Amino acid sequence: MRSVEEDVLRDHCGIAGVFDPTGQIDIAQYLVIALNALQHRGQESAGIALLLPDGDIDAHTGMGRVRDVFPHGAHSSSQVHFGIGHVRYSTSGSSAVENAAPFVLRSHCRLLYDSLALAHNGNVMNVASLRHEVKQIPLRSETDSEVIAALLLEQVGLPMEQRIRHVAHRLRGAYSLVLLADGCLYGVRDPYGMRPLCLGRLGAGWMLASETCALDRVGATFEREINPGEVVRIDSSGRVSLSSIGNRSHSALCIFEYIYFSDATSQLRGQNVYSVREELGRQLAREYPADADLVVPIPQTAIPIALGYAEESGLPYAEPIIASRYADRSFIKPDQRLRQLEVDLKFNIVRSKVEGKRLVVVDDSIVRGNTPSILIRSLRRLGAKEVHVRIGSPPLKHPCYFGIDIPTETELIASNHSVDQIAEYINATSLGYLSLEGLARATGALTDLDHPEAALHRQFCYGCLARQGYPFPITDRHQSQAKLPATTL
Ligand code: SF4
Repeated sequence: MRSVEEDVLRDHCGIAGVFDPTGQIDIAQYLVIALNALQHRGQESAGIALLLPDGDIDAHTGMGRVRDVFPHGAHSSSQVHFGIGHVRYSTSGSSAVENAAPFVLRSHCRLLYDSLALAHNGNVMNVASLRHEVKQIPLRSETDSEVIAALLLEQVGLPMEQRIRHVAHRLRGAYSLVLLADGCLYGVRDPYGMRPLCLGRLGAGWMLASETCALDRVGATFEREINPGEVVRIDSSGRVSLSSIGNRSHSALCIFEYIYFSDATSQLRGQNVYSVREELGRQLAREYPADADLVVPIPQTAIPIALGYAEESGLPYAEPIIASRYADRSFIKPDQRLRQLEVDLKFNIVRSKVEGKRLVVVDDSIVRGNTPSILIRSLRRLGAKEVHVRIGSPPLKHPCYFGIDIPTETELIASNHSVDQIAEYINATSLGYLSLEGLARATGALTDLDHPEAALHRQFCYGCLARQGYPFPITDRHQSQAKLPATTL
């Protein structure tokens, strides 16, 4: 059985790029602020890369959160006009400093484009075969990001947009990229648009970021999302030019950006993430009402989902489960008694609010089932009379091949147990998951004429919820190429 900390979904990375023509913006400092805003997308490593006045690229990367890597912030001279940054959670390559991004690669032949820095959010499925195509650049990391950077750099003599197009046609999977090359800042989104990327105005300059919350944090104004298959080039005069690596007949943004990954303050596809989560809760209340006294979220992502549930059901709302801010898990050992202690450390519960109550406990998803099981035991120990669990997404049944660390099917409790069996395992009085139709409605994908799954398929990847929800059929080859954690429950 995995630890409680591992019983959650994890994203891959967050990326940002800044351009300022005036020299009045400290590029390094702005990147560090933007990465702080994107910290929820990855906490294993952080880094920035700056384009220096002589054309060389300087990078600083390290392990840990942004505040660990840049304890005193970061500063760059007024001569630096371009920079990119990255926060990482590893699904391709281990958690080691060699795998921290941005990657800076230099070509030995020192022709036209002789150095390049790249930061990447996503997962390239065919990276093993692409790695063999890198002939001249020595690869130092295990990551797909460095392979992409090397393939771009090895195509000497071609304009950068053409290099990006050539390499993109070889990549299978999800990727949003920011790169410094050729004295410009580039942003690239894969043809399905699986990972988010947006463009903002920053004074006289520009900014690219995984989420709008990073634009907000530095005072940039949201301009628009980068479209699936779009390449944005920002040159030193501030001119923005667009090109395409091709797009598909449908887009496939990861549906979990709405449910879990994105910051609640971010805007996605014209909708505020917090508002969509409230709507998930309202739909859930319509589908699975409960005769109860109080609606209670499991913090943090589920708070707006629970608020929506309470509003629609007319039940009172409270937050008696409080995430502990200062829990130190480092001494926890993997045995059952201490796992209970781990939950007790992670969550404090206000006894007077739950004692004798019939609770509706709302969460965003169930992965292995360990956390809700232990948490419900704690609630019952403190006197809760009934615990009705409501989940703001359909059951998580299948792995992710696109960079989200979802366990194998043997580990996913909903993959091999019925809803009743899961309710029994977690000791819930009742259990209700949002339906695919409810998800399509809450995310605004469904029109009146639509079939829910057709509506979802046009706009989202939802393959971990239903096999047909992957953007393209997953073959045996994809499965063997994908790096999935090989552990058991
Ligand atoms: S499989 Fe699930 S987690 Fe992975 S990209 Fe698709 S929706 Fe997101």
